[in-house]
Amino acid sequence: MDGFNTRAIHAGQEPDPLTGAVVPPIYQVSTYAQDGVGGLRNGYEYSRSGNPTRTALQECMAALEAPGIETARGLAFASGLAAEDTLIRTVLKPGDHVVIPNDAYGGTYRLFKKVAEPWGIDHTTAAVTDLDSIAAAMTPKTKLIWIETPTNPLLNVGDIAAIAEIAHAGGALLVIDNTFASPYLQQPLLLGADVVVHSTTKYLGGHSDVVGGALVAINAELGEQLAYHRNAMGAIAGPFDSWLVMRGIKTLGVRMDRHNENAAKIVDLLEGHSAVGQVFYPGLASHPNHEVAKKQMRGFGGMVSFRVKAGEQAALDLCSKTTLFTLGESLGGVESLIEHPGRMTHASVSGSPLEVPSDLVRLSVGIEEVDDLLADLEKALG
Ligand SMILES: *Cc1c(COP(=O)(O)O)cnc(C)c1O
Repeated sequence: MDGFNTRAIHAGQEPDPLTGAVVPPIYQVSTYAQDGVGGLRNGYEYSRSGNPTRTALQECMAALEAPGIETARGLAFASGLAAEDTLIRTVLKPGDHVVIPNDAYGGTYRLFKKVAEPWGIDHTTAAVTDLDSIAAAMTPKTKLIWIETPTNPLLNVGDIAAIAEIAHAGGALLVIDNTFASPYLQQPLLLGADVVVHSTTKYLGGHSDVVGGALVAINAELGEQLAYHRNAMGAIAGPFDSWLVMRGIKTLGVRMDRHNENAAKIVDLLEGHSAVGQVFYPGLASHPNHEVAKKQMRGFGGMVSFRVKAGEQAALDLCSKTTLFTLGESLGGVESLIEHPGRMTHASVSGSPLEVPSDLVRLSVGIEEVDDLLADLEKALG
């Protein structure tokens, strides 16, 4: 099996049979001519059901998350949340129960709380780091354990292999939101997870120019059910968006290496700064889950969070003082971003078990010159 970067550039992306174009064309088309009724060319009928540009991305995603596993199936969606919604409505039915992280992405929590719960899906929150409380949260009705690792925004790390055992012992599936790590740093399906979820908006796209999502299921039957539901529900990725994500993926490995390097240097600065309280980064030897992170990740990623000693107002002020670190939501692009989770990305979980500290600042460390990033932060911190 080829190495990661080779798969990122070539998997699903043979030169176009018609012209030899080395990049899969953007098949901006809704329907396909049939050779007689039902005579589909390569199975293409209508672009909600199938589109060659999307197919190329999906094959690439499956090759990155589950190299060499023939049963794995990738599916691309209009957004990360569209992927999550399709997954939830495929594998769950009213009366079922799920275990979700107590510091999940705010939108994921909102989906379970405001959409799935009224539909009849109960949830229990548990810390992804606490295997006992995850096991204790399981009930006979639990069909799914949903884990994000590292988590957003507190960068907790869950032991994927150990949680997979808990899930399977209880007859549940394990879903991993792999958005923060990307398949370059972590491949949950090889550690026992059943489905991986992505917001391809983030590291996979990598350039803050597209919103998209993906699922990769390791089991062919589940993959087929997900494909059926996506076609029935309609939350597909369009051809141009699929093409943008595929273009981003080609440089995922080199970008992630630089994200890792830059983040490590930013963490050094923050750790030594008198205005900064606790720093959250799985690469820190002092991080409580550092050993697990080392075991299951190739690197520690570009996301860093920290508390500002002087409190909420100082944290808010800091977010407006940087110039290279742009104040904004989202993450995973080549450009560095800064944000205040309590008032921005995690405002929707305020007052819930997922509420985050009000003095918390989150960085998405980009791939600019690290000296420029360090200078920007140092000046803003004062
Ligand atoms: C952004 C994000 C999502 C949601 O994805 P969208 O593409 O915004 O719908 C889900 N999980 C994590 C960890 C995210 O960062």
